[in-house]
Amino acid sequence: MTDVQTGARTGWVSHERYLWHDTGSAAGFLPAGGWLEPLAHVESVATKRRFLNLVVVSGLLADLTELAPVPATRQQLLAVHTSGYVERIAELSAGRGGDAGDGTTPFGHGGIEIAQLAAGGAITAVHGVVTGVVDNAYALVRPPGHHALPDRGMGFCIFNNIAIAIRHAQSELGMGRVAVVDWDVHHGNGTQTIFYEDPSVLVISVHQDRCFPLDSGTLGERGAGAGHGATINVPLPPGSGHEAYADVFRRVVMPALERFEPELIVVACGLDANGFDPMGRMLLHSDSYRALTDGLLEFTDGRLVVIHEGGYSDFYVPFCGLAVLESLGGRRTAVEDPYLQDLVHGGGQKLSDQQRRAVDAASALVVDVRRPGG
Ligand code: ZN
Repeated sequence: MTDVQTGARTGWVSHERYLWHDTGSAAGFLPAGGWLEPLAHVESVATKRRFLNLVVVSGLLADLTELAPVPATRQQLLAVHTSGYVERIAELSAGRGGDAGDGTTPFGHGGIEIAQLAAGGAITAVHGVVTGVVDNAYALVRPPGHHALPDRGMGFCIFNNIAIAIRHAQSELGMGRVAVVDWDVHHGNGTQTIFYEDPSVLVISVHQDRCFPLDSGTLGERGAGAGHGATINVPLPPGSGHEAYADVFRRVVMPALERFEPELIVVACGLDANGFDPMGRMLLHSDSYRALTDGLLEFTDGRLVVIHEGGYSDFYVPFCGLAVLESLGGRRTAVEDPYLQDLVHGGGQKLSDQQRRAVDAASALVVDVRRPGG
């Protein structure tokens, strides 16, 4: 390791089985057929395996505290999902597999076991941080979770890993106020839905406006009932880069967290807002993810749980993920992002007027964030 700074203890959750989640043949995110020649499903193993491999060859793995995931129990799933849905996934899984709900979320025989291990990995990461075994943690789980709704899967997500882990933290680990910061390029609609009327969980999603799902993640979705104000969406125009995200964090995310005073922050770490991603049209680079993570760590005094979500550039996701991990540990490896300069100097990183107006609109919502019970 070079340039050791704070030397935080970072937990690392991964499992070979995550890489066995079988999304089969497709063409992008649609089933092949008609005019679509079969190819791999866009949610394929490559980004995750290559991220893991970079963590190994960088030498960083030796500095991480490996936390072994255990599968989420049915009971833990049922804190978020309906029994009918869990049974449906179990039945499909016992056969040849199937689709979790929207036609873009395939899984193979035995897929429920991997999905339970993904949810369990999120629980493991939260448990490690809350109990002080580690200061912070990254869970490289698959399948992802933030689109999954109580009664159906969606957008490659079967179970909502983060929501399941948060419910566990609240019921078993004494956590009260929890904040989710979702920087996946797509709207975290599943997580939003699950906590929409719950004032104890602040859900902030920063995403590309109307990317996926098409009609969700608007400014007007702000929570309901007692949860009003505890949902904040920051839909950014396509093409937003480093400065736009920095402005969102400075004027929306951080002030909202200051008002809410969370006991725990969980990041929905999609890495698909990077400038090379085929599923988004944003321009972030590895130093952007490093800066966003640094900012949250400063706020929490080093405590943070980061759960992997989307990210589809096979060659670039690993560098974004490594930057997050380096930030968590307060250290740099010898790895240099070979694409960084292309993105930094490639245009689009400055804050545009259109992006500033989008942040202005979201920042007006912060006043309605309240510390529950306070
Ligand atoms: Zn995504």
